[in-house]
Amino acid sequence: MYLMGKEEIEAVAKVIEKGDFFKINSSYQESMHVEEDMARIFNVKYPIFMTSGHAALTTALVALGVGPGDEVIVPAYTYISTAMAIVGAGAMPVVAEIDETLTISPEDIEKKITPRTKAVMPVHIQGFPCNMDAIMAIAKKHNIAVVEDSCQADGGSYKGTRLGTIGDAGALSFNYFKIITCGEGGALLTNRKDVFERSMIYHDSNAIAFFGDQLKDNATEPFCGHEFRSNDISSAILRVQLTRMDGILEKLRANKKYMTDALSPYCTLAPSNDAEGDCGVVIALQFENEETARKFATSEGMKLGLPIDTGKHIYKNWTPIMNKKGAFNPLMDPFKMEANKDIVPDYKEDMCPKSLDILSRTVYIGNPLNITKEEMDEKIETIKRALKAL
Ligand SMILES: *Cc1c(COP(=O)(O)O)cnc(C)c1O
Repeated sequence: MYLMGKEEIEAVAKVIEKGDFFKINSSYQESMHVEEDMARIFNVKYPIFMTSGHAALTTALVALGVGPGDEVIVPAYTYISTAMAIVGAGAMPVVAEIDETLTISPEDIEKKITPRTKAVMPVHIQGFPCNMDAIMAIAKKHNIAVVEDSCQADGGSYKGTRLGTIGDAGALSFNYFKIITCGEGGALLTNRKDVFERSMIYHDSNAIAFFGDQLKDNATEPFCGHEFRSNDISSAILRVQLTRMDGILEKLRANKKYMTDALSPYCTLAPSNDAEGDCGVVIALQFENEETARKFATSEGMKLGLPIDTGKHIYKNWTPIMNKKGAFNPLMDPFKMEANKDIVPDYKEDMCPKSLDILSRTVYIGNPLNITKEEMDEKIETIKRALKAL
């Protein structure tokens, strides 16, 4: 969370005074407005506001027809939620390397594709845009779907197009830690009508009751899904947050540019697939090896983090995935399903050595939204001192 204030409080108060929080209603609700706002802001046909980013990822995979018997490629560096969504859909996560940009390596995607690959999930981790041109070209060539995990990149873009709207579907997250937040929440973005309709059925049991007539014309027969529907209180908060989003990004990007312009002569910055679309959440410095990276991170006056230490963001710490525990009930466990018996991956701690190497010699410098120019200048001097002392 970067910014929240009295506008959000007033928006929530209005909803509570109205006394009707239900998303699907005959009266025109905040939840309907928030989806209109998203369609406009993200320039996407079918945004669906739901309970979480994870719900949006799972819904997108299911709506694209991913299920048992399918492989889905996921980067070695992402929050465990991305891989769990694949298992949630019944499919097998195949882990691919990242490259120096800290996002999925298009080259390794191509190496990991098999006749069973159904989709790839590029993750715009820390707001760094993935190489979408290369990924879309590979996906087209091999006829696989692309589900963008934009949960850490709300509002970011790639060559002028919003992240999450380039692939077949994308997911945003609005949990407390993300660029904008409504407490908990997420959105599925898609321009595909078929994906939208199946997503409506899957994420909201009421969709069948309320939109049943509209869904009659298409090829999708109603099926059983889950209840990931959001509500008007969250929507009211999110509508205000959406008005703040581009301002937040502008400030983060300006701060990052100021810092990186000053630091670039003295260090190696992680390359970017699109520096202008990058969200500016963190500055990533890369070193020769882990020892130097750690020495720098703990230099006098600094307490910086290495992405290798970010726990469940690294594949080897995705415990239930690594242990192949896909469900509580073994009969519902995709790792034990007949349809998956030939494609259960052989997960090993060291299966993505290049990713582990990159993550252990990278150091993140945080970029707080309200940092002053004086504070940035001071930070730059401290960092320069530490770099010289290496
Ligand atoms: C936060 C996050 C998610 C899940 O979002 P929730 O809204 O918490 O479910 C998925 N993927 C990534 C990369 C995330 O950072």
